[in-house]
Amino acid sequence: MMGERRVRQDALFYEFSLERHVPERHLLRSIDRFVALDGLRQELAPFYSEMGRPSIDPELLIRMLIVGYCFGIRSERRLCEEVHLNLAYRWFCGLGLDGEVPDHSTFSKNRHGRFRDSDLLRRLFETVLQRCIEEGLVGGEGFAIDASLIAAEASDRTRVEGTAGLPPDAAGRAVEEYLAVLDDAAFGAATEVTPKFMAPADPAARWTAAHRGPAFFAYSVNYLIDVDNAIIVDVEATTAIRQAEVTAAKRMIERSLEGFALDPVRLIGDTAYGSAEMLNWLVHDRGIEPHIPVFDKSQRPDGTFSREDFAYDHVSDTYRCPAGKTLQRYRRRFTVPRSGVMKNNMIYYRASKHDCGPCPFKSGCCPNEPARKVQRSIHEGARDLAREIAKTEAYRTSRCQRKKVEMLFAHLKRILKLDRLRLRGPNGARDEFHLAATAQNLRKLAKLMPIPMPMPAG
Ligand code: SF4
Repeated sequence: MMGERRVRQDALFYEFSLERHVPERHLLRSIDRFVALDGLRQELAPFYSEMGRPSIDPELLIRMLIVGYCFGIRSERRLCEEVHLNLAYRWFCGLGLDGEVPDHSTFSKNRHGRFRDSDLLRRLFETVLQRCIEEGLVGGEGFAIDASLIAAEASDRTRVEGTAGLPPDAAGRAVEEYLAVLDDAAFGAATEVTPKFMAPADPAARWTAAHRGPAFFAYSVNYLIDVDNAIIVDVEATTAIRQAEVTAAKRMIERSLEGFALDPVRLIGDTAYGSAEMLNWLVHDRGIEPHIPVFDKSQRPDGTFSREDFAYDHVSDTYRCPAGKTLQRYRRRFTVPRSGVMKNNMIYYRASKHDCGPCPFKSGCCPNEPARKVQRSIHEGARDLAREIAKTEAYRTSRCQRKKVEMLFAHLKRILKLDRLRLRGPNGARDEFHLAATAQNLRKLAKLMPIPMPMPAG
């Protein structure tokens, strides 16, 4: 028999429980167990006046932001509409059925005021990370580092030549933030190279073609993760160049030790982190094994002997060439001994003209020079250690584990839809990256620590 939906219109009062209408397995139910904002509320208290009308509850704003970043709702205007209509979002935000959803402009006012003054989003990230540590999800033995480009909220149609600098009428919050980070090693001081183009709307965004496609304005999001469960241990926004990303890596490693006593045994990264200076910092300053490919330009494109064909002898501090001859720093004695270290932190070892001239290997070694020269970084010891590690089984495991950080970036862009920033300036990028990393850690907590389901009766 065909059924007919009968809607009773005569009831004036309904009994409705929001609690009962949010499914037991809803992601927000799981996440809610790990969101503890009492401490943040106390930290925010000094930023509120004791007089005047009560403000919008900051916990409500933070919970709404968590909803937005967990479900890829990028627009704050749309977030307000979604929270208004979605019962699970209302439940998570503690709004009940008829609680008033704040206006979208409230987010902007709080972000530029109290939230940034109190560094609230950083504290939120740290609170969730602390919870991950307490739940035993952070092993602390192996960390992986990587950076990814996120397009800035800056149109290339309004770009100006980098050499011309900012137009005199450029003004606004993003311009002020750009000026404030000119001396920061993660932004303006990362390189002396003038960018080809600048965006007057967001001058700290870097014009880059790192993806080997069309160039665009971007920031870099830097993640330091624990490889056990891919928990994000630290996050930082930088300008989109390698030197800044290396600076961020060092800052994040130091912060994880200071803030959470996390001192990894090994760091996994790609060649971007394989410079001699970075490897030396890891090995000698921090005692961390670099599971990182060495950034090495010693291979010669013309097929002549490369540096690895020369054997270094630590005792005599000399190289031995394939013909068995010695290459040394200096071939004559100086009254005042010289270190031989050049400005680029390299030391040159030279063969003798008397050896190279008649050598049968000369055409395959130094066809255009009277004698062969080999350069060695002052940090070569750390590079050698990285090369030795690269031959081990543990290194192969590390290469697989490095994919975890790449997957987090893929998730960030495809699922959380953070492939383009919505906010401008270094602080805007910082806010968005911290919220996204918080959301990713919360989702991971919810996945790895599911709500225990009651056993079926019987
Ligand atoms: S050319 Fe000089 S450095 Fe090269 S193999 Fe011969 S002797 Fe050694």
